[in-house]
Amino acid sequence: MAHRLLSEGARAEWANLAVIGLVVALLWGKAPSAGLIAWAATIGFATFIRGLIRRRILARPTDPGVALRRARPAIAGAGLAWGIGAGVLLPSLPPLESGLVLMVVAGLAAAAIATLTADQWSFRFFLVGLLTPLPVGLLQGADPKGGVLATIMIVLFGGAMMVFHRRSNQLLTDHLRQSAQALGSERRALRDRGYLEALLSGAPIAIAIISAEKQILGVNAAFESLFGFAAADAVGRDLNDLIVPATDRATAELLETRAAAGETVVAAVERRHRDGHLVPVQVSAAVVGEAEGDLFVLYEDVTEQRRAEVARAAADQAMREARDAAERLAQTRSSFLANMSHEIRTPLNAILGLTELMLDTDLAPEQRHSLGLVQTSGETLLALINDILDFSKIEAEHLQLESIPFELPHVLESTIALLAVRARERRLELLADIAPDAPAFVRGDPTRLRQVLTNLIGNAIKFTPRGEVVVSITLAGEVADRVQIRFAVRDTGIGIPADQRAAIFEEFGQADTSTTRKYGGTGLGLAISRRLVRLMGGELGVSSEVGQGSEFHFTLPLEVVASPIAGADVPIAVHLVGRKALIVDDNATNRRIVGDVLRAAGLRIEEATDGAVGLGAIRRARDEGAPYDLVVLDAQMPELDGFGVARAVQQDAGLARTRLLLLTSAGQRGDGQRCRELGIRGYLSKPASRSDLLEAVSAVLGTPKAGPTQPSDIVTKHTIAESRKRLRILLAEDNPVNQEVAATMLRKRGHLVDVVADGRAAVQAASGTPYDVVLMDIQMPEMDGFEATQAIRMTDTGRLLPIIALTAHALSGERERCLSHGMTAYLTKPFKAHDLFALVEGRGDDGGVLAPPPTPAGTAVPPVDVETFRQDMRAAGAESAVDSILDTFLATAGERVTAVTRALDAGSAPDIDRAAHAFKSASATIGAKDLAAVLQQLEVAARAGDVAQARALAERFATASAAAIGYLQQMMANAGPRS
Ligand code: ADP
Repeated sequence: MAHRLLSEGARAEWANLAVIGLVVALLWGKAPSAGLIAWAATIGFATFIRGLIRRRILARPTDPGVALRRARPAIAGAGLAWGIGAGVLLPSLPPLESGLVLMVVAGLAAAAIATLTADQWSFRFFLVGLLTPLPVGLLQGADPKGGVLATIMIVLFGGAMMVFHRRSNQLLTDHLRQSAQALGSERRALRDRGYLEALLSGAPIAIAIISAEKQILGVNAAFESLFGFAAADAVGRDLNDLIVPATDRATAELLETRAAAGETVVAAVERRHRDGHLVPVQVSAAVVGEAEGDLFVLYEDVTEQRRAEVARAAADQAMREARDAAERLAQTRSSFLANMSHEIRTPLNAILGLTELMLDTDLAPEQRHSLGLVQTSGETLLALINDILDFSKIEAEHLQLESIPFELPHVLESTIALLAVRARERRLELLADIAPDAPAFVRGDPTRLRQVLTNLIGNAIKFTPRGEVVVSITLAGEVADRVQIRFAVRDTGIGIPADQRAAIFEEFGQADTSTTRKYGGTGLGLAISRRLVRLMGGELGVSSEVGQGSEFHFTLPLEVVASPIAGADVPIAVHLVGRKALIVDDNATNRRIVGDVLRAAGLRIEEATDGAVGLGAIRRARDEGAPYDLVVLDAQMPELDGFGVARAVQQDAGLARTRLLLLTSAGQRGDGQRCRELGIRGYLSKPASRSDLLEAVSAVLGTPKAGPTQPSDIVTKHTIAESRKRLRILLAEDNPVNQEVAATMLRKRGHLVDVVADGRAAVQAASGTPYDVVLMDIQMPEMDGFEATQAIRMTDTGRLLPIIALTAHALSGERERCLSHGMTAYLTKPFKAHDLFALVEGRGDDGGVLAPPPTPAGTAVPPVDVETFRQDMRAAGAESAVDSILDTFLATAGERVTAVTRALDAGSAPDIDRAAHAFKSASATIGAKDLAAVLQQLEVAARAGDVAQARALAERFATASAAAIGYLQQMMANAGPRS
């Protein structure tokens, strides 16, 4: 409005100047010239000011309101200039000229309606300025009456002008608003159209708009390029004629009909390009807005999509084929592994088994030495084959873990027992530390756990020149029926540098290449162990300090199960409960371990840190009238050792009731004899399994009366072993070598063995004889082991008979196969004697096999075959000499035993040789075969200069000599005094 007002200004200004010029010309001569000039000058000045203000406002764009407010005074000033001039001149003018002036004023007011339409206030100021001075002039004129009349007229005129102006202002405002609105909607329409056009032409989807008659009304650029028709060619044509293949006409029309009915249709179809080729598209159609029957048809090019789908299908197919091929390969590999395992193990079985048997016979030194090498090489080879098989199985993800209930402490103890010899040879303390709160029975894979522990303990022994190796089991957590068991193998060995700690877990990784030369090994052990531990749900880790030792540890989640075998828990004899025991050992770990076992069995335990402290405690307890029932002594202690304490106890009459049990980790030096002499009741080598320790303690505490100990009284691993039952065993095995190995091992152990060569014979034998256990080879002619087992299970006697599978397959799954065929247990060939005995005797592994098999008691061959000797003598006609020869033998035996023991103690090979040789022939002559055999081996070892080998035989020698002497003494006593 302001703009409009101001734009009218220029015209108004020129009009003002023209009018005043005209008025002055008309009135010149009729009014005072000075007045006229003054009036004209005022008008000119006011117009000039007005123009100036207007230009300034226009030059600087301002807010319309402000602009109006600035323009208004100038307009009012112009009005006032006219009004005052007219008012001053009117009284001096004749009537005609007065009328002329009034007309001019009226004309100005009327013209202002037009020029000031835009602003009411401007008009009002102008009008008031213009009209107000007039009545003043008129009333001062010659005709006051006429002046009053004129004033009234002027007022009415002013009011009318106001009304007119307001109306025209209103009209103008309305007009302006409407045109502004019209302009806005036109712009919007244009913009919307622009959007739509941009959308249509820019859309990547081909679009055609068709009329109800299928005539194309328009197409977009995408349509042009997709189907090859220019818009100009397409418009006006029938869409179906243009791009629908003849075969698709019907469906296309159906789609259109449905779309026309208001449905939004979508379909995957093919449309024809101008050049004839077919384009796969996804078509969709819908009615356009409200336009009658017009359709929007959209085509999306799905060529790429189709191509991708085809490619994906091909890739899927290729992948399936690759997977199948991989599976076939894995299958082949697995069966190759199985066969290789079978093929290698079978001959190895023969090699190892026969070697073991041959080593028990008389051999020349170099034969024994070579055979020893065969044995160790065979064992190394077997271990290596096992490692490589394991590794490839783990790699091929073919290793399946078992999940069976097993006795946790037993697994640890039996593993340790197997490695005890190596530890002893290196004079290391090897200890098992089982937390009392750790569960006894859990579910898992005992074989794999044993494998990991064997590897870790083996390494610990290998890399520890002195000190101890402690294997511990602790309870690390418990949730419902699951426990977290932490296994740790700690040594005081050479340690592993920090930068090597990761590498040793890699396959073939060893801490130091020079280590390989010094210590041997393949570097596979830890790699396998780590993977096995992972499979079992744990993580094998190591902490170590160079020169201080290492600790390998892992934690496994295991399910706790109730004891699966009735009475499998070590039976705790009632007579142990509440008994008072003292453990004397300088090794704190060992004190705690033994203490834990005995405490768990109900004994009250006290501890002493060395021999002197122990002796003090024993004496004090006696003085207090509460002597110890049992004292467990460590053989090796600084200053006062176990033997020393025993001697002091023996010499103290007040301590006669105290039973002594000696534990040694460096025995094998004829300790047995010393024990007897010192009244020690039991003798065990460390580490003693929990069950051995408890059995020994039971036996020691159960000895009926105190007094001078008989040689046979002493409790050892072997006496415990001897108390085991003699079994009747059926062996079904077709391979004669394996037959001989297994049968001889078992017979040597004192069992009775019947051998059959096929499954049918096994079934027959089992139905006729009440066997305690059957050993069943799987692969046999006629009827294989599975069939035979099933047949035996059908019979009354065979239902509960333990049947142990013998198989050369070591792959996972074999065990399940055997168990699913009704077999009780499973043994892989080649087996170790102790594994065989453990299974057959139903005990799991037996640490006792580390020593030679004990001579069976009872009906077995006696330690001295006096009968044969007598027969020989009889044949030679010298029967009468028998008794006296035996007397002489007995009389000199003690001396000779001492000589051998001393020589062994001293470690002098020539002395051992001499002493053994002297004793050997005598022993052989009277039929003390075992003793003679040991002496022969001692002699051989000594001649070869192998003192360690000789010492390894010490315990056997002690046992054999004691058995022979004891047997003869007994026999002589029974025979009564002779004349
Ligand atoms: P191997 O013993 O056959 O060489 P392992 O995989 O069992 O293979 O061990 C890898 C390496 O880790 C060993 O060569 C040795 O350097 C290091 N190592 C393992 N255990 C110990 C340990 N208890 N003390 C020191 N070093 C060890």
